[in-house]
Amino acid sequence: MAGRTEAPARASYEVIIVGGAIMGSSTAWFLSDNADFDGRVLVVERDMTYESCSTAHTNSCIRQQYSTELNVRISQFAADFIKNLRRYLGGDERVPELSIRSFGYLYLADNEGFADILRSNREVQIAAGAATQLMTAEEIRAAYPFYNLDDIVLGSINLVDEGYWDGSTVFDWLRRKARENGVEYIENEVVAIERAGGRVTGVRLKSGERVACGQLVNATGPRAARTAAMAGLELPVEPRKRFTWIFRAEKPLDRDLPLTIDPSGVHVRENGGGTYLCGCPPDPDPAVDPEDFAMDHARFENHVWPILAARIPQFEAIRVQSEWAGHYALNTFDHNAILGPAPELENFVFLNGFSGHGLQQSPAMGRGTAEWLTYGEYRTLDLSPFACERIAQNRPIVERAVI
Ligand SMILES: Cc1cc2nc3c(=O)[nH]c(=O)nc-3n(C[C@H](O)[C@H](O)[C@H](O)COP(=O)(O)OP(=O)(O)OC[C@H]3O[C@@H](n4cnc5c(N)ncnc54)[C@H](O)[C@@H]3O)c2cc1C
Repeated sequence: MAGRTEAPARASYEVIIVGGAIMGSSTAWFLSDNADFDGRVLVVERDMTYESCSTAHTNSCIRQQYSTELNVRISQFAADFIKNLRRYLGGDERVPELSIRSFGYLYLADNEGFADILRSNREVQIAAGAATQLMTAEEIRAAYPFYNLDDIVLGSINLVDEGYWDGSTVFDWLRRKARENGVEYIENEVVAIERAGGRVTGVRLKSGERVACGQLVNATGPRAARTAAMAGLELPVEPRKRFTWIFRAEKPLDRDLPLTIDPSGVHVRENGGGTYLCGCPPDPDPAVDPEDFAMDHARFENHVWPILAARIPQFEAIRVQSEWAGHYALNTFDHNAILGPAPELENFVFLNGFSGHGLQQSPAMGRGTAEWLTYGEYRTLDLSPFACERIAQNRPIVERAVI
């Protein structure tokens, strides 16, 4: 935490959002934009530099290739939101016009089992209106001659609304517009959550103040389970380290490199100007402290680079330019969002567990959470399948296209 703390202006708020990064700010903005909501909103953020949150370490990509219709719909809304950011934010001329750099995600299957998963995922995606194409190794080679595809039996790609987008600009504007609409942001840390009679009554801040609330939103990313525990709730969300490297190729590719998901689990994509971005998890992949940002330098030399060079022989000659470690808030139950009220504490609202796809889900999740806080129901996309009851009932939302 940056060290300074700010006091809230009031002793009580209708909604307190704990965590002011992309999820907290998306919710804050959608709430403040809803004429049916006229309560006061406080966002408590422990570090206004945002330098250790997941949002600051993201790869900022969006895909439509999911295994469930609901996740496809969530990404469709995200794409519309990104491409029409100015209109969504009230037509404000200061808001830039954004686009998606749609180089696509290319999933590569090296066995018939995974090829069948890609085939059945495509059915779901096509039915939901996505433009997924299956490609044989020969078709991939014709479109992208730089790959070595000797072991590949099938690929799957979508070149519409799938690729890179400018997440940090969207985050900046959501935060700025929420504040301009009257949402109060303070730098402080929630250190305790008070409850009475099956309801959250308020929070205690690191600086000592107690602040009362009508509803509380847990938007604390990799720290979500700690925040839930303050209210006596369990949440299967763990901080898991994910490494990213940006490298320059001595001989850049002659066309855009799709975000390629190698069967090994390494992914690599276009980053512009002859540079490329790649990433992978550690092995083993334990829960870590959310302040642990140590890099494993050997992971690139010994694992990632050989895989890249085998898949794209032109990547024999590359030089790492920058690297970082960030944290997924990994939902260990089913790698999907956990959303909505806690059954035993219904004014405690989860907005957690986004694993590797929270940036692109933030428009739909913020909108949905704001609807829940205002109406007690989802009014646009029905996000109730993400309710945490599915965990106790052992009904995972199976997502077979995780990266
Ligand atoms: C390497 C990497 C690559 C990724 N790539 C993609 C991608 O390409 N596409 C995609 O869609 N997603 C991607 N993601 C995931 C995405 O970045 C996250 O899902 C998303 O940023 C989560 O946002 P959040 O607001 O939930 O959490 P965070 O950004 O972590 O924010 C949580 C906030 O809560 C604050 N906080 C925590 N505890 C407290 C407390 N007690 N009191 C006050 N404040 C508190 C923290 O300071 C923090 O600012 C990636 C993630 C990583 C790590």
